[in-house]
Amino acid sequence: MTLSLIQAAYLVAALLFIASLAGLSMHETAREGNVLGMVGMAVALVGTLWLAGQRADWLTWLAIAVAVSVGGGIGVRRARQVQMTGMPELIAMLHSFVGLAAVLVGYNSFLSGLSDAVHGVEVFLGVFIGAVTLTGSVVAFLKLSARISSRPLMLPARHWLNLLALLVSAGLLVWFVGGRSIVPLMLMTVVALLFGWHLVASIGGGDMPVVVSMLNSYSGWAAAAAGFMLGNDLLIITGALVGSSGAYLSYIMCRAMNRSFVSVIAGGFGSDGAVRGGELDYGEHRETSAEEVASLVTSAASVVITPGYGMAVAQAQYPVAELTAKLRERGVAVRFGIHPVAGRLPGHMNVLLAEARVPYDIVLEMDEINDDLADTDVVLVIGANDTVNPAATEDPSSPIAGMPVLKVWEAGHVVVFKRSMNTGYAGVQNPLFFRENSQMLFGDARERVEDILRAL
Ligand code: NDP
Repeated sequence: MTLSLIQAAYLVAALLFIASLAGLSMHETAREGNVLGMVGMAVALVGTLWLAGQRADWLTWLAIAVAVSVGGGIGVRRARQVQMTGMPELIAMLHSFVGLAAVLVGYNSFLSGLSDAVHGVEVFLGVFIGAVTLTGSVVAFLKLSARISSRPLMLPARHWLNLLALLVSAGLLVWFVGGRSIVPLMLMTVVALLFGWHLVASIGGGDMPVVVSMLNSYSGWAAAAAGFMLGNDLLIITGALVGSSGAYLSYIMCRAMNRSFVSVIAGGFGSDGAVRGGELDYGEHRETSAEEVASLVTSAASVVITPGYGMAVAQAQYPVAELTAKLRERGVAVRFGIHPVAGRLPGHMNVLLAEARVPYDIVLEMDEINDDLADTDVVLVIGANDTVNPAATEDPSSPIAGMPVLKVWEAGHVVVFKRSMNTGYAGVQNPLFFRENSQMLFGDARERVEDILRAL
């Protein structure tokens, strides 16, 4: 009876998670999607705690309660402290915990005794995926938080090293299932930790968005593997949902960046790791002032705003939303062009603009707006760089060559809001800044937009 009630609770939770994913796929329903996910998790937690209580397994109950309170406490504190710009590295760190959990569950399953060969394979694969996720996510955390360089690590014969790691692990699997010894499991853990480290270390800065979503996917598969080892259906379903949606997101990001999925996962294909463009002479750039930009935008019929990571750093979305509203009141057609990898998280710009209550119907994806840019009077590039870099389409030797970008340079006038002539995340100089129709408005994006608002 108790067991079927628990199964019913897990089924309800699984359905809520599926509904949550459906809600999260659209701006308008994203909040409801989040709420459904939280309710699903609450149902799952209450069910699990109740099951532990029913079995009179008070020690387990106490262990879960202490773990949830301590973990939840730390989680709430970190979530309150983190800036929006720090989210990607926090997420990478959280993925590493899922990997670590899968490794620990795997060792625990092994030490509690393997029932049969299938169980042995589950444990081995669970530990492998967990270990790869663990170190891969730690490297992603270090790169995203700029604690280590975002340049790809280019070891000689790096693809052969990856292949060797996979072959050695396959051999160790045969040994493990045949002999049920801890030695091959431990050897494989070391190989998988190194493999995960190398895989992410050899991926360049420009491809990091795909890495973040790939690690998201790996963490899902690690959770599903833990579910198999623990015989927990809900964990299997939840892990598979996270794993497959992360893999699909990676595929979408690869398509958006014109990268081959396999090449990015294999790490560093098609890139020699050099960062170019900084030394190229593109000529002189021209500067403008907030007052000049104010008169430019008020006399324009159409304005497109293309935000990037700098808008997140400056928290400029609120004055940008105010500027949008003021210009629309004056009859200027204002729209936003969002690059799929702008910022440091999938959907980063959409979240910021939604937070500042910019109407959804004027926020367009890159593909929806790119053809209109040639007929646009003014483009305001707010803290974006790589995502508006013409070198991606014009310079085949550029590290970001082939990545589709917002063709802002085709507009009548382009105003670039940034603090200096520094490069963007990929470390590539941007020839846009030196074009005839481009002007730089230097300074913090929030302050500069506020200056424009005052000048209106
Ligand atoms: P970039 O990172 O290319 O450039 C951001 C620009 O913002 C910088 O050139 C910086 O110039 C400027 N900036 C920073 N702070 C401020 C400020 N306070 N005020 C004004 N400007 C500021 O941004 P994009 O969004 O165009 O591109 C995103 C990059 O990040 C891509 O290379 C993408 O591949 C990568 N990435 C994306 C992820 C995702 O999921 N979206 C994840 C990981 C990486 P200055 O210092 O001169 O001010």
